[in-house]
Amino acid sequence: MRSTPDITRKSLLIGSAWGLLALTAGCTKPTTGSEALPSSTPTASAANVAHWSYEGAEGPGDWGNLSPAFQTCTTGKAQSPIDIPAATPKSPAPITLAYSASECDVHDNGHTVELHAGSAQSLTVSGKNYAFKQMHFHDPSEHTIEGTRYDVEFHFVHQSDDGVLAVVGLLAKAGKSNPVWAPFVDAAAGSTSSRSIGSVNLASLLPASLEHFAYEGSLTTPPCTESVLWLVLDQPIELGADQISKLRAVHSANNRPTQELNNRTVTLVNQ
Ligand SMILES: [Zn+2]
Repeated sequence: MRSTPDITRKSLLIGSAWGLLALTAGCTKPTTGSEALPSSTPTASAANVAHWSYEGAEGPGDWGNLSPAFQTCTTGKAQSPIDIPAATPKSPAPITLAYSASECDVHDNGHTVELHAGSAQSLTVSGKNYAFKQMHFHDPSEHTIEGTRYDVEFHFVHQSDDGVLAVVGLLAKAGKSNPVWAPFVDAAAGSTSSRSIGSVNLASLLPASLEHFAYEGSLTTPPCTESVLWLVLDQPIELGADQISKLRAVHSANNRPTQELNNRTVTLVNQ
């Protein structure tokens, strides 16, 4: 049975947001954490930066040993991703999108491909507004549902004015080709330099239902900063097999293994 959540909104006031900004310099390839913020964000010194990977000696099992700044990857007790039990209730707190058509561009940060919007986008959940920062993908999915892993997972990263991160997780499975995702997928398969994909309304990329599971977790990339509000959508989208192949050709196996739930409740209540 689920335990009573020992989670307060205060705990989501991210005291360690600075940690996730500490990753934007020092590697041969840009190594911004996938959930981290755009490259325009102020950066910490290169001394706090370490290379990391999804395999070998710099793989997920060793992230916490690569840098003191990454310790939470090992010591954290509220890490992401997780396996979400099938019987988990949906969050009672609806997500309200304030997305609109915007010129968007994409670039490869060395671990995934990020999409940035040229104009302000945001969402509201539980009365709190979060500004859209970037969207990127993991292949295969990071979150699993009752052990089921999906082909792709997209993360729409947002941040409130007081520094709380909220990430919408969108699962995708093979099916019909998805035309609204074509501009991102096709551009992701291109060069690593930043390039425009034209006007996109982020809302069009999401399923009709925004019903979701909510829990308090972490960045799924170093420095694995906690107090991230996760909003994992219940309804997966379909992508064509060729679209999945295109993403997989750019970055594959860029998924952190699922982490222990420990003393957490999915879905959060009283949001
Ligand atoms: Zn991510």
